[in-house]
Parts: sequence; C-alpha cells; structure tokens
Amino acid sequence: MTIITLSLPSTNPSSFFFHSSPKPFKFNPKSSSQLSPTTTTTTTTTSSLPKTSKVIIIGAGLAGLAAATHLNSQNIPFLLLESSNAVGGRVRTDIVDGFLLDRGFQIFITAYPEAQKLLNYQSLNLQKFYSGAKIFYDGKFHTVADPLRHFLDSAKSLTNPIGSIFDKLLIGTTRIGVLTKSDEQILTAEEVPTIELLNKLGFSDSIIRRFFRPFFGGIFFDPNLETSSRLFDFIFKCLALGENTLPANGISAIPEQLAARLPSDSILLNTKAVSVDFGSSDSPRVTLQNGEILNSELGVIVAVEEPALIKLLPGKINPVVKKPVRSTVCLYFTANPDQIPVQDPVLFLNGSGKGIVNNMFFVTNVAPSYSPQNKALISVSLIGLFKDESDDELVSKVIEELSDWYGDKMVKKWKHLRTYRIEYAQPNQCPPTNLKKNPTIEPGLYLCGDYLTSATFDGALVSGRRAAESLLMDRAFIANAS
Ligand SMILES: Cc1cc2nc3c(=O)[nH]c(=O)nc-3n(C[C@H](O)[C@H](O)[C@H](O)COP(=O)(O)OP(=O)(O)OC[C@H]3O[C@@H](n4cnc5c(N)ncnc54)[C@H](O)[C@@H]3O)c2cc1C
Repeated sequence: MTIITLSLPSTNPSSFFFHSSPKPFKFNPKSSSQLSPTTTTTTTTTSSLPKTSKVIIIGAGLAGLAAATHLNSQNIPFLLLESSNAVGGRVRTDIVDGFLLDRGFQIFITAYPEAQKLLNYQSLNLQKFYSGAKIFYDGKFHTVADPLRHFLDSAKSLTNPIGSIFDKLLIGTTRIGVLTKSDEQILTAEEVPTIELLNKLGFSDSIIRRFFRPFFGGIFFDPNLETSSRLFDFIFKCLALGENTLPANGISAIPEQLAARLPSDSILLNTKAVSVDFGSSDSPRVTLQNGEILNSELGVIVAVEEPALIKLLPGKINPVVKKPVRSTVCLYFTANPDQIPVQDPVLFLNGSGKGIVNNMFFVTNVAPSYSPQNKALISVSLIGLFKDESDDELVSKVIEELSDWYGDKMVKKWKHLRTYRIEYAQPNQCPPTNLKKNPTIEPGLYLCGDYLTSATFDGALVSGRRAAESLLMDRAFIANAS
C-alpha cells in the first residue's frame, strides 16, 4: 500500500482532506479502556451524535473493527455503529456465574496471516490446544496427532482404526502440498467440494468418516464437507503453521483488543442503522432506527453479516444468500474437577457416525481462566440448529450420548449451564466461491464481512482492510492497495 504524501495546510490531517465539512468531527485519539464487550453498555446517546462523520462504518464485528483500525491508522475519523450492546459480532463471550462462555465453540489459529498483522498475541495470553484430536470410535478413543509436534503419539496412532497407515502418510503429503502454495494461490485455486478433494487425494472412506467429517465438518459447520476446497486448503495450511488457541479472557478478547485501540468516542453501541442511501450527495447517509440521519463525507462501509445486508441496502444490491447457512448449537456444562475424565487440552471428535454430538472439549483443561476456581467447564458442539428439539431435550440427548463415551456415573453429574443456538454461524461457502469479492458497490459505498472473503476470523479482518483501502483509494488518499 502506498500512501500519497500531500503537504498539509493544517496540523490536523483530516481537516485538509475535506474542506466542506459542515461540522468538524470530534476526533479523540485516546484509546478506549472502557470497552469490555461482555459487559459494555454505551453511554453515548443518539442526540449527542455528530450529524456528520468522515466515514461511517455499520457493524462492529471483526470486519468493521478491522476497517476502523485501518482508517484510524491513516488518521481518518470514523463512526462505528453497532446495533448490539458490545463489539465483536459473532465473536462474543458471556460471563455466566463466573464462567466465560464463548458464543459457540471458536478457535483462534495463531497462523492467520491478517490476524498476525493486527493483533498483539502476547496480551491475548493465548492458551494452546493439543495439536491433534481424540476420536470416539467403536466404543474407544483413538488419537490423531500432529507428527511434527507430538511425534510419539503420532507414531503410536499409525495403526489405529481411524484410517490406514497410507491415510496417515497422506495427511503429511497433503500438508506439504498446502505449505508450498501461497495464500493467494490457495484462495483463487480451482475448487471442488472438500469431500471431492479428499476422495481425489486418495483418502479412505474410514478416515473421511472418522476424522475429516467431524473435524473439518466442525470447522465449517458442514458435516457433508461440501465447503470449497479453497477453505479446506487455507485452514489446513494455517493449522500446519500455527497453534489452535483460546485467549485466556475468552474469544471476545480478540475484538476487544481491536476496539480498545480506537478512539473512545468513535464506537456507538446500541445504535442500529436501518438504511443507507445517497440522498442528493455523492457520499451516502445512514438513517438510524430512531429516525436520525447521519451524513458521511467520504463514505459508508457496511460491515454487517450477509443476511442483515439485504435489509439495509434494498435495491442497491441483491445478494443471494446461499443456503443452507451454517448453524450450530453449543451446550455448556460444569462439573467438579474429579468429575471429568481427562486433564488434556485436547479436542474430542465423534467418529462413530452416530448421535448428535460432533465435538466436545474440557474448556478448563485448555484455559483454566474460563472458570471460577475449582470448577471444570465443558463445551459440546452440534452441527445444525435442531429447531424441532427443545433445549431440555438436547441436554438429555447430549448427556445420554456422552455417558456412552465417559460413563454415566461421571457424566450424569454434569450441570447444564447454558445452550447457544446460532442460526447464522457462517455463510455457506460451497463452490462456486469468490473469496476476493470486490468491496465497492459504488464510490462512497463499500462492503466488508466474512461472506466476501473466507468465513474465518482472518477473512473478516482482511475484508475490513480491503473495504477501507478501497474507500481511501476512491477518495484519493492512497495510490494503490493490496
Ligand atoms: C459459533 C461460531 C464459531 C466459529 N468458529 C470460528 C473459528 O473457530 N475460527 C474462525 O476463524 N472463525 C470462526 N467463526 C467465524 C467467524 O466468527 C466469522 O467469520 C467472523 O467473526 C465474521 O465477522 P464479520 O465482522 O464479518 O461479521 P459479524 O461478526 O456478524 O459482525 C456483523 C456486525 O454487524 C452488526 N449489525 C448487523 N446489522 C446492523 C445494523 N443494522 N446496524 C448496526 N449494526 C449492525 C451485528 O450486530 C454484528 O456485530 C465462527 C463463527 C461462529 C458463529
């Protein structure tokens, strides 16, 4: 990215770029220390809103926060509007009876390339998972381990029934294959559904059913593995290069860290946009739910999830949300430390092909900080929404099923804490995909979100940067962008 350097007539860079600003936007470069998404309520009332802002960003998920971060780094003032009571979008953590409950099972992979540029990993205090998984199959647990990190475990697992020795060697060669490709090559490669790719590579039905379906099906919320092979290769590469982790303070520590670096008065929570239009200006305006209108001078970046987009920009775009969208249910339980079977920070997968549990783990084995002292936290994930079953029915089914895994004496003592049903966890990214969609609708109006790139934390962050870069390019702030 090249910044065009201009000689500034004033010490405030933003006042140079737009002479026509009717009311200068109050730009307070202080970073916010108040934002704590688990508990935040905004103190800004809409009557105190500036009526004009250089840029308005709608949606404070990772994409909107990344766009804001990029604008902030260029000293471009912005207002970030968020309809809910905290930043983070789908990446949120609730505090329930002292437990940190992420809204759905989410893993942060340290090798995400855009995340590496934007986040301070050290202050996230990332807690690592074991590099591999334990698979429940035929009444027993079988290990699949990363040979480079857990050589002995991996060697011991060569002969287990999860797949043939050939399958396990093939995982190694597939890994080498993805590591030799750039991210750009991966995200624009010829694509097929992941299941076709696995078949083509020569993996056996056993390893596909017992390992790939629960593992990648759990990542994509797609047990049929119809998701694009581009996504498979991208995640496979990131898994090979990085660690699976959880921030010690919950997954919401990621968006919180981004938000804390932004000017404290630039984020407005509980502020819902209902429409975006150009009026008679060449830069769009945003109408809020309470009827107020906010004008932008440079443009508007719409950073909402794809289904919400349709309501905001009717007539402007007509996105076809690919069906089915990816849904999940996550149930949390607690138990005394002696009522869980292992202390390992490992992910358990259901390779049996039966039941409703896809994967589960003992959260406090990975990150003890997720629980008040002396209590274990257990997270169980299902794929799909299970609309026809009540929460109580799901709890009983899960307890029954896991009693088979760990014995009913132990599991029946677990206490249910909360169930999250997440209808829109990810967009459907089956082929054909375009993981580098153009963020520009027209000069002044831009989109970002995971549905434009890859449905990952990283994809959302990339899309936010790209939207901000496109706006800055159109408005002649930068000569070219990546
Ligand atoms: C359960 C679950 C597990 C996941 N696991 C992983 C994982 O392990 N690894 C990974 O990389 N990715 C994972 N993902 C995907 C990842 O979380 C998303 O791809 C990413 O967070 C999307 O960010 P976004 O900013 O594009 O959208 P969102 O996070 O949806 O943000 C959109 C924001 O816009 C706001 N908004 C909507 N309408 C309006 C309006 N009218 N006015 C104002 N604000 C509005 C919303 O409230 C929201 O805050 C998971 C997602 C879920 C749900």
